[in-house]
Amino acid sequence: MISRTFGCRWGSFAIALLALSVAALVSTSARPQQPEPGRAGGGRGRGGGRGARGGEVLIPTALISERGLTANDFPTLRSTTGDVYVWQDVHNLGFLTNNLIVITSAGVLVADGQGSPEATRKLVEAVALLTHQPIKYVVVCSEHGDHTGGNEAFPATATFISSPATQASLARAAKAPDSNGRKTIVPNETVADRRILKMGGTEIHILNNGRSHTGGDLQVYLPQEKVLFTSETFSHRIFPSMANAYPTEWIQTLKKVGQIDAAFVVPGHGFLDPAPTMRAELAEFEKALEYVVGEVRRIHTSGVSVEEGLKQVDWGPYRGWSVAERNGPPAFRRIYDDLDGKLK
Ligand SMILES: [Zn+2]
Repeated sequence: MISRTFGCRWGSFAIALLALSVAALVSTSARPQQPEPGRAGGGRGRGGGRGARGGEVLIPTALISERGLTANDFPTLRSTTGDVYVWQDVHNLGFLTNNLIVITSAGVLVADGQGSPEATRKLVEAVALLTHQPIKYVVVCSEHGDHTGGNEAFPATATFISSPATQASLARAAKAPDSNGRKTIVPNETVADRRILKMGGTEIHILNNGRSHTGGDLQVYLPQEKVLFTSETFSHRIFPSMANAYPTEWIQTLKKVGQIDAAFVVPGHGFLDPAPTMRAELAEFEKALEYVVGEVRRIHTSGVSVEEGLKQVDWGPYRGWSVAERNGPPAFRRIYDDLDGKLK
C-alpha cells in the first residue's frame, strides 16, 4: 500500500493521502487531520496560530476542544519516521489515546490499543491498509481499560506481551464478568526487565523501567529509528493521573526514560507535536511530577489530614494542565499513601 520511501518525518503529504484513504475505508465519520508538508499535524485547528509557518505556537493542552478540534477529526494516522506510525483516537475525557504501529518485513508490532473493540478494530483495519504483513505482537504497555478494552479486536494470531504485573492484573480481571461484555485478553508473554525483538531488519526494545502510572508500565523503543513510545509513563500536558500510580517511583522511572536517546517521543495520551516539542514536554512532565509530589510532601510533613491538605494544596503552574480538577485529588491521596508507606 505504501512503500518505505514514502515514510518521512512528522506528517508528510504522502501520509496525509494515506490517512485519507484509511479514514475513507475505515469509517465514514473518520476525518483525518491533513498535515501539511514539512510541519506537524495533530495540533492544528483554531487557536493554534494557523498560518504562522515555522514560528507557530501550539496551545499547550491535551484537550482536542482547546485546539479547535472535534471527535470528527479522529481517528488519525501520523507518521514518525520510516515505517513507524502513531494511531490517535479520542478518549472520552476529550484528549487523545495513542498507539504505536511498527511495520517490518517480518510482521507488525502494535503497542497499546484503544478502549473499545470498535475503536481498536479501526486501528487494525488501518494497519491492513498500510501493509499485508500480519499483526504479530501487541505490547500491552498500560493495563488500563482505555488501552486494553479493545484488545479482543486484535487478530487471535497476535502474541500479547506485558510486564508480569500487568499479566497478573489482567488475569484477575479476566475472571470477573465484564459489564460491557468485553473479553479481557491476558498477555501470554512477559518482560521483567527488557526484551529485544528482531523483526526483519528492525530492532525493537520492550522496556520495563519500573512502576509509574500503573504497577506494570512498559515502554517501546526503536534504537535505529530513535522512536520512543512511552505509553502512560508520559502523557502530554495532562495533570499526572495517579489513582493507581506509584508516585515517587514514577519520578525515578521517568528519569530513566528521559535518558533514552530518542528523536521522536510518543506519549500515551495527548497531542503529538513537533519532535523537539515532544522531547521538551517529556522533561516538562517530569518537572510536573516532581512539583506535584513535592507539594504534597510539603503538606504531609506539616502533619495535616488528607481532607485539610486538599484545601491547602497549590498545584502552581500545573493547575492549568488538562483535567487537573479531576486528577488532582486522587493524586493527592495516592501520594499521601505513598509517603505513609501504604503502597506495596
Ligand atoms: Zn490511559
